[in-house]
Amino acid sequence: MIVRDKLTEYLNKLLSPDSIRDYCPNGLQVEGKSQIHKLVTGVTASQALIDKAIAIDADAIFVHHGYFWKGENPCIKGMKKRRLASLLAHDINLYAYHLPLDIHPVLGNNAQLARLLDIQVSGGLDATDPKSVAMRGRLETPLSVSQLSERITRRLARQPLTEANEDKRISTVAWCTGGGQGFIEQAAEQGIDAFITGEVSEQTIHTAREAGIAFFAAGHHATERYGAKAVGEHLAGQLDLQVEFIDIDNPA
Ligand SMILES: [Zn+2]
Repeated sequence: MIVRDKLTEYLNKLLSPDSIRDYCPNGLQVEGKSQIHKLVTGVTASQALIDKAIAIDADAIFVHHGYFWKGENPCIKGMKKRRLASLLAHDINLYAYHLPLDIHPVLGNNAQLARLLDIQVSGGLDATDPKSVAMRGRLETPLSVSQLSERITRRLARQPLTEANEDKRISTVAWCTGGGQGFIEQAAEQGIDAFITGEVSEQTIHTAREAGIAFFAAGHHATERYGAKAVGEHLAGQLDLQVEFIDIDNPA
């Protein structure tokens, strides 16, 4: 068991939410009971994840996508009301870390994706920004487009949408988990062979074709499963806490 305030403090120290400007509050978003025995980790604080957390008597939930996004309607109605009502009725704490979880150098979504795909990290895609969300690196051995596509499919259990010239050899890679498709231009400008992200936009395909950079969209959810999971495993190893990662499938 850990006291909620101690866990909050631990997470804030681990993920330093004040170090990056974000579109949502990071940290404890919804306060629940003061003693935490069981923590559920997941990608998004959806109703399905909350229901599973309730079913296994969790005291807290840790996610990448929480609530209270900049620009959203602040009124508590409909889906938002039901989610908050479920959390409050069961006194469950909700922790959410968005960009701080993307950029953590070891446990972050980007670091974990690199590890999973055997990419050696060279640094941030924007070398002038120490908090660059997108990253660049290289593959140990160059791969063909279909070999990289297969590797992604196997390791993420999801086939990526691929746009590339089939005979391109890939050794340098840039990537950004989730909705990072906008970074493709920056990657292309740097002459990087391939760009991997979660989502795709109509214009991303034109950039890939015209700039000659191989593009892989492996799913917002699929590319962002690993940060929350890694934080959970870290917490279970460091604190007196039972942790369970719950994957609520999402094809997007
Ligand atoms: Zn995301």
